[in-house]
Amino acid sequence: MLIAILSDIHSNLEAFEAVLHSLKREKPDYVVCLGDVIGYGANPNECIDLVRQHCHLVLQGNHDAALFDEQLRFYFTMHARTALEWTLNQLTPQRLEYMRALQVSARQHDLLFVHSAPTAPERWEYIVDEYDAMKHFSAFHERICFVGHSHVPGIYSQDGREHVVVPHCRYIINVGSVGQPRDGDVRASYGMYNAKTHVYYCRRVEYNVETAARKIIEAGLPSSLGYRLYNGM
Ligand code: ZN
Repeated sequence: MLIAILSDIHSNLEAFEAVLHSLKREKPDYVVCLGDVIGYGANPNECIDLVRQHCHLVLQGNHDAALFDEQLRFYFTMHARTALEWTLNQLTPQRLEYMRALQVSARQHDLLFVHSAPTAPERWEYIVDEYDAMKHFSAFHERICFVGHSHVPGIYSQDGREHVVVPHCRYIINVGSVGQPRDGDVRASYGMYNAKTHVYYCRRVEYNVETAARKIIEAGLPSSLGYRLYNGM
């Protein structure tokens, strides 16, 4: 079984469409979205519709949750909060209801899917290095936990050495971000996992950054949210 794992689309329609186009070639049996469908970008409604259409499992991220939780917005940067409040005015009641109903974690066989971290996913903690990852291995029993949230792709193994997904070792894998990569690579990021061979690889896909950035600026969203896409930061 071939599983595609996408995260942090953040209303970037151009990046999301490029990833969906790339998935046509990969032909996954199952598509998971780890959340943060909205926030930052200019096409929240379109991205929600595409997620519903193409993903078999969709989780809630912290930006999605902040649509319904004002307290959560206090932890956001000023621009993130501005984008969130802009998004709230764009979404139709029906799409808002869909976002509200999303769960924060899901288990499938020996895989765990969460947006942030396996320990209390609704606390929205970040895993950015091996040290962070080590703290979370005791919080789940599955072999692999797939995460997003930091927008930086990475593979963290429990033995601290392996960097190729092999059977018998446990991992926390960050699939990176579709709509706002932050590792200096402007291309959209997503993960592909083959549950039969246990091989994981991170895919990067070029998309029309100019259009995505221009739409953000034309929508009246903070212009830095557009410009950062050019740097992949
Ligand atoms: Zn995010």
